[in-house]
Amino acid sequence: MFEKRYLASRFSATLLLLGAVAVAAISAHSYLRMHHPGPDVDRVVPREGFVHKRLSDYFQGLQDTPADTDVYVQEGEQPGGTLLVLGGTHANEPAGVVAAVVLLENADVKRGRLIIAPYANLMARTHTFPQDAHPQTFGFETSGGVRRTFRYGARTTNPVNEWPNPDIYIHPASGQTMAGVERSNLNRAHPGVADGGMTEQLAYGFMQLIKQEDVDLAIDLHEASPEYPVVDALVAHERAMELAAMVTMELEFEGIPIRLEPSPKNLRGLSHREWGDQTDVLAILMETCNASAGRFRGRTGEALVLTGEDKAYDKAAELGRLYVPWESWDKRIAERVGRHVTSVKLLAENLEFVRDDAGIVIEGLPAYTSLSEEGVGAYLRD
Ligand SMILES: [Zn+2]
Repeated sequence: MFEKRYLASRFSATLLLLGAVAVAAISAHSYLRMHHPGPDVDRVVPREGFVHKRLSDYFQGLQDTPADTDVYVQEGEQPGGTLLVLGGTHANEPAGVVAAVVLLENADVKRGRLIIAPYANLMARTHTFPQDAHPQTFGFETSGGVRRTFRYGARTTNPVNEWPNPDIYIHPASGQTMAGVERSNLNRAHPGVADGGMTEQLAYGFMQLIKQEDVDLAIDLHEASPEYPVVDALVAHERAMELAAMVTMELEFEGIPIRLEPSPKNLRGLSHREWGDQTDVLAILMETCNASAGRFRGRTGEALVLTGEDKAYDKAAELGRLYVPWESWDKRIAERVGRHVTSVKLLAENLEFVRDDAGIVIEGLPAYTSLSEEGVGAYLRD
């Protein structure tokens, strides 16, 4: 009797162990796929005219580190100003990333220079937040029938690259204290530290790029959740406020409602604050509305990333908890990318009115209505 029970419990223990090993193997495989997603994921096909560089060309300390990332530069025939666009500061804000790629694949610079870093924090693209159930990828079909796939990452650097976070993060340039996790957040790490943590070094690299390329206008592309007050908005450093106000009016004129928010002076580490304070660049951050990163959301998957439609948000809107006109309003990624691309184009075109000889003319970009009608895939290359 005893022998039989002993054998039975050994049998169930072995089964449980095998089950645990199988779960661990499947999870490990899935986790590692984010690190080595294959050549077709996050692939970009820059329009001819772009020169490929690396962020380590501006700050050598990044060379051979996981923080180093691609930077593309296109110079027009006529001299003018220099515009820097960052996508993917936060890898879980898909329209910011995709808008940077659409700019990279379509921009034909006639005057001035355009510099694009489409995947600003690559270390945030190798993981998703635990228990958030985000899809690892999402994608679009091009006109030629090719699927273009992008990783859906996280807000912060992967703990594999930076661990552990402190209980409290002290922002080095200001001494301001923040939650420990913000140490891994590129948009709290500016202006960066040459020998700091990986995320601080990455921020330092972008600051060196801005200085060495003598950037006139720097734009950081983001998305925010529908329950966040700053959404569908331009956030401008005080020196960029005049330019942002001009563009806000033009966007409204084109039927794109947008808010204009001043960059708070006491919130440190953010791109629009530190870039503007440390250099003479005009610094602007833009937010579109992304339900897939919101806390109210229900079923989470590629469909939510692309459509923004969600029953839990319908309910939240009914209860008056959102800062966007949920019912009457277009939440699709094509609209969000269209907002970003149109805003970038208008900011570039208006730059010469606030800064002498800094005009930038970019042709070839899809209009807001074209993106909205034809979808993102129509403006990505095969
Ligand atoms: Zn963001």
